[in-house]
This record gives sequence, structure tokens and C-alpha cells, in this order.
Amino acid sequence: METFKVEAIVLKTDDFGDANRVVTLFTKEFGKLEANAYGCRRSRSPLSGAMQMFNHISAEITRGSKVDTIRDADILNFYDALTKDLERLAYASLLFEIVNRMTFPRQQELATFNLLKKSLPALSKRNPKVAALIGACQFMETSGVQLNFSRCVHCGADIEGDAAISILDGGAVCMNCVDAAQDIRPYPDALRKTFETMLGFNWRDETKLTFNTRQLDAAENFFVDYVQSVLGNSLKSVQFIHEFIN
Ligand SMILES: [Zn+2]
Repeated sequence: METFKVEAIVLKTDDFGDANRVVTLFTKEFGKLEANAYGCRRSRSPLSGAMQMFNHISAEITRGSKVDTIRDADILNFYDALTKDLERLAYASLLFEIVNRMTFPRQQELATFNLLKKSLPALSKRNPKVAALIGACQFMETSGVQLNFSRCVHCGADIEGDAAISILDGGAVCMNCVDAAQDIRPYPDALRKTFETMLGFNWRDETKLTFNTRQLDAAENFFVDYVQSVLGNSLKSVQFIHEFIN
């Protein structure tokens, strides 16, 4: 049986049986992969500890005819703060769920791997809502269903001042084209600047970002509605945010 090594971020875990877990990894080498980690919930298992959501790990995987199996794993980095703080957990889960739901298995996407890796320290130290929205904004750019924030999706004109934004059309709509849009919501200048700052954000930059609360809420609602409309159903983490955070 073929065995291979990966560097990965644990995107999702699902328990099954007495002590097993199906682990969804976002790997540097192959993109998203699902593998079984047998016995990992037993404290004496060599896999115990590593198979937790948000961990950055290296792992050895054996390819099977039906399922792949994780043989061995080492933790490269873990982010305790994400499991100890409900708001951090909720927003980190939002970003991870968006990435999980909007990517296909076994398609290498180095940009997405790097984005997850860089977002984790920010999600555990900075304002988690801001970090998750920046992550979602930057992820969407490479997702194949990217949004147009700065130019009208209908005529291509640069957006200046207040305009509209459309979920179904995938981005900004200038005032001349609002009648042609399938759906519209307000797109004030301040919201466009919020999106542009998020898109251009460098994760290594330690400067404090301050966003207007109203624009941040509008950005969150817009991303959530957009992703849900692309997926055709709802995100679990959004329910979690609504129940426990907002
Ligand atoms: Zn236009």
C-alpha cells in the first residue's frame, strides 16, 4: 500500500465508532483530503492530540482502495485560544466551514493552504471576526466565484462613492446599472473601503485594523449570504454565531 507524507491544517473532524475520527485535512501537497484516524480518541493513541480542528500538522497517510488512513501525525502548531474562547471558536469555524464547503477534494491549492496557515495566529490573537472576514474575503478571490468589489459587474465602471451590490450578480453595481441587477442591497463607500482593505491585508502586518462596526456587520452579512447562495444551503457556523455570539 502506498504511503505518503503531507503538511496539513485540520479543517474538520467527525467522530465515529468508539474512538475513531474522520479527519478532513487541507494539505499543502494535494489540497483537501479526507482520511480516517482510527483510535485517535484514545489518550494513548499516537494520534491523540494531533487530530483536532485548527491544528497545523505533518502526517503520514496510507492510501486505501476506499478510504485513506492516517498512520502517524505530529503537531507543528496548535492554537489553544481557538478552543477556549467561544467567539474565536465561532469565527474560526466560520472561515474553516466556508473553505471546506467551497473547495473540491484533491485539488492542490497552495494559496488556500497558506491562507489557512496564516489566518490561524490572527484568529487566535486579533479580533476574530475581523480575521475571519479577511480570510473569507481573500479566499473568495481564489475560489472561482470571486466577487467584484471595485468595478461594476455589469458595465465595468470603477465604483466611486455610494453604489449597490448584488449577491446574484457577484459584486458591485454602479448607479447606472441598478435596474439591470437581479438583486441589490446598499453598497456605501465605507463598505467598499472595508472590502478593499480586507483584500489587500498582509497577514504579517501587525498594525491594528479598525473597522466601523456597522460596516463590519454589513461585510459579514454579505459574505454569509453570498456563500449560502452559492452553496444553496446554510452554514452551520452561522447558526452557532447567532446563538452564542450576537
Ligand atoms: Zn455599471
